[in-house]
Amino acid sequence: MNPLNASAESLAAAYLADGSLPPLPQGHWIDGAECPAASGATLESLDPGLARPLAEFAAGDAEDVDRACQAAARGLAVWRRSAPGARAQVLRAMATLLRQRVGWLAVVDSLDSGKTLAEAQGDVISSARLFEYYAGHAETLEGASIPIGPDHMSWTLREPVGVTAHVIPWNYPTSTFARGIAPALAAGCSVVAKPAETSPFTALLMARWLVEAGLPPGVVNVVTGLGSTAGAALVAHPLVRHVTFTGSVPTGVRVAQAAAPQIASLTLELGGKSPLVALSDCDVEAAAEGALWAIYSNAGQVCSAGSRLVVQRAVHEPLLAALLRRTRALRVGHGLRNPDMGAIHSAQQLHRIAAMVDGARARGREVLAGGSMGADEAADTGWFYRPTILDDLPPDDPCVREEIFGPVLAVQVVDDDAQALAAANGTDYALMAGIYSRDIGRALRLARDIDAGQVTVNDYWAGGVQVPFGGNRHSGYGREKGSEGLSAYLVTKAITARIQS
Ligand code: NAD
Repeated sequence: MNPLNASAESLAAAYLADGSLPPLPQGHWIDGAECPAASGATLESLDPGLARPLAEFAAGDAEDVDRACQAAARGLAVWRRSAPGARAQVLRAMATLLRQRVGWLAVVDSLDSGKTLAEAQGDVISSARLFEYYAGHAETLEGASIPIGPDHMSWTLREPVGVTAHVIPWNYPTSTFARGIAPALAAGCSVVAKPAETSPFTALLMARWLVEAGLPPGVVNVVTGLGSTAGAALVAHPLVRHVTFTGSVPTGVRVAQAAAPQIASLTLELGGKSPLVALSDCDVEAAAEGALWAIYSNAGQVCSAGSRLVVQRAVHEPLLAALLRRTRALRVGHGLRNPDMGAIHSAQQLHRIAAMVDGARARGREVLAGGSMGADEAADTGWFYRPTILDDLPPDDPCVREEIFGPVLAVQVVDDDAQALAAANGTDYALMAGIYSRDIGRALRLARDIDAGQVTVNDYWAGGVQVPFGGNRHSGYGREKGSEGLSAYLVTKAITARIQS
């Protein structure tokens, strides 16, 4: 079957029946062509739902990265001079391809990351929206004229920053690629992307589809391989002017250090331990539904997951009852079966989650739901963790303070709004917060005082491509999405001329 026009359901059924899957790209994508690693080395990607090999891909190193950066420098020379309308046309054509090929890309994403098919399809559509949104921006990038007196004229140009590096994590391999690449292209930059070593395939597919959409070869390049080799070489490459990094805090620190000698600018999208705050006057059923998907979407492997429920004592009991009812009904399984919750991405991640919950148990904490591994179908032999709730944790518990990156909800009980605020701000992270209350003034006072890059009220995942996204403190700096997401890829040049005759 031609995967480009096959439905997600038919591709998924064939894979689940006998493991059959159309071929995946194997090499890097450099200068508009697929090529193997210079060393010839390969890595193997695994299907998290079955814990078995999926496909091989190139294990890049500094030599491949250098080739990609040289190609990106040549691509930049062409792309930065392109007309805004031409840029917009390519981005729109890419969005159309993504919508036409949503089935194939979603199946590959689901197998790569472990997420459910519905989540993967949603992520492909979000990626299409990012290309559409930044297509609009490509044509509206304007500088300003600055009055400085009768003898001069002064104005600004907004120019592309240059070659940009994009280091991508495994939890959203498709939309994290689109989130950085679409604004970079709208601004006239070129790109070298390095997907995570466990989820390389959707970036490789999208890079070649961009050429089909009309992008000149060399403008977007993808090098696959380990973070410690390909990733480290990319963020330290002298041709790179901006690094967009999405990943963990320790790696983010290393990336910032590696980029510093080149004075490359940085966007760091790091981890989170975001609170969903349920105030005493909240709609309990709505808050339970919000809390459920805040933590169990993508099996909790979301930087902005609502991994803490800060609940006021007045609604603790009914809210937990409503949440438990929903949690116990969730089906867990292979992403391509499209259950409520998919797989944990890797064995290492699964064991880290289990160790965090076992530690809580050993400290005498109450495990209200889950707390064990396993899927609902015996055939799903991969890495799964049951949706878990740890009740009434103290503020210094490791499960409150540390990012678990799995389907584990840490509940904190508080009495009043001051305590809710202190709990919400009580970790090193400051990425996101959700507030549930019927009193909009009360909710907005809390929203004003919470330290986070984004706060939502009565709808945890409210937002879209237009809304800027990013963190404060240990969650990083810089913003992606929205018109602010363009600023990382632009530098301002002021031109001032004497006009006195
Ligand atoms: P990670 O830090 O292990 O890896 C992220 C990427 O960095 C991978 O592509 C990896 O190969 C690469 N890398 C590793 N070492 C490197 C080095 N020395 N130099 C350059 N690149 C290197 O993170 P992960 O486990 O893949 O992703 C999970 C983390 O990402 C979580 O902490 C999560 O919160 C965070 N995250 C943040 C956001 C956000 O937008 N804030 C979004 C998704 C994930």
